[in-house]
Amino acid sequence: MSDEWLNLDETYIMPTYNRLPLAIERAEQNYLYDTHGKAYLDLFTGLAVNVLGHGHPRVKQALEAQGNTYLHISNYFVAPPAVQLAKRLIEATMPGKVFFANSGAEATEAAVKLVHKWRNAQDEEKNGIVVLSNSFHGRTLGTIRLTRQPGIYQDFPAVDMPVYETPAEDTASLARILEDEQPAAVLMEPVLGSGGIVPLSQTFMEQASALCKSHNVLFIMDEIQTGMGRTGELFAYQHTNVTPDIVLFAKGVGGGLPLGGLIAGNQVKDKFQPGDHGTTFGPSPLSAALGNAVLDALFEDGVLSSSRERAEKLQNGLQSLTKAYPSVVDGVRGLGMMLGMKLKLAPEKVKELRARILDRGILIDVTQQTILRFLPPLTLENAEIEHLLTVLEEELAALAGGLSDE
Ligand SMILES: *Cc1c(COP(=O)(O)O)cnc(C)c1O
Repeated sequence: MSDEWLNLDETYIMPTYNRLPLAIERAEQNYLYDTHGKAYLDLFTGLAVNVLGHGHPRVKQALEAQGNTYLHISNYFVAPPAVQLAKRLIEATMPGKVFFANSGAEATEAAVKLVHKWRNAQDEEKNGIVVLSNSFHGRTLGTIRLTRQPGIYQDFPAVDMPVYETPAEDTASLARILEDEQPAAVLMEPVLGSGGIVPLSQTFMEQASALCKSHNVLFIMDEIQTGMGRTGELFAYQHTNVTPDIVLFAKGVGGGLPLGGLIAGNQVKDKFQPGDHGTTFGPSPLSAALGNAVLDALFEDGVLSSSRERAEKLQNGLQSLTKAYPSVVDGVRGLGMMLGMKLKLAPEKVKELRARILDRGILIDVTQQTILRFLPPLTLENAEIEHLLTVLEEELAALAGGLSDE
């Protein structure tokens, strides 16, 4: 049965992703089950979406309650679940207002338009956006040039907006661009996700924020992957003293349903007027209700605070493996439940390793070809961490033995 689905997938769906040969039948808590009934510990979480794992009681409850109320009304009416979610996001971050869309790329595009409205209102000399090398901010035409990974953007046209690229951690380079080029905004992920799980230092983020302030430039945090508790705070910038002008969110915020958007601080919160921007489903009341359920779980049930200890356990375990197998592991980095293990292996060897781990019932992503990307649910349990570390240790030991034999 599984193979049949794989064949049909190949025939009817465009191959825009390197799909794994797995047809998923159901999912429960921290596990996915394929059509053969085999279980996989899910350290992939739909790419940082399922922060509460699968079928969380809070989410199920909200699905049923809102599903029985209404699914869609339109932005011409007030939807209490959306208002409630916006209020809670503002109260948990900074004074301002929220704009809702359906995805991460739409969140980024909304920010680009907001930057334009802001600079039109005060300083038309300023133009363009600074982003970091290896960034990922979306794949739509409006965002593709902000994503500085050549394999992703090179075949597509740029929208009419300057984009400046600067390396992470290079404050001098950022300062030079702000002096010489007069951009209107600086956009960065606090932990580069698809760029290889690279956390920015607190110093760099604070210096970048200060430079933006002194040059009167908007500072935008793309928290699409790092948000919703993934790094141990609701948003990763909250580990620092930075207050961004705009925070982008998506992925985990809809509890498994499509939902994205931005939090706009006081400088920009009133720049959009009716007609300036919008989207039919932004937000789906059902997605918004699930967003509230996720916040309930994170804060009222204590999922966020209790995840910190387990994130540390996972991080320590991966660090020990790095020390034990220096011929195979180059290092571990990340923040909270967003971790990357860089391997000293050829990309094909990494693929083989991932396949062996998958065979043993653990689902892990690979990014930048040689980095195992761990994006577990915040509900990951101690026993699951121990199991993961045991399996990894055995696989790394086998690889280290193989290497030293050569
Ligand atoms: C996934 C992601 C996006 C794009 O989100 P989509 O919902 O896929 O459009 C943008 N920025 C970051 C940091 C992401 O991880």
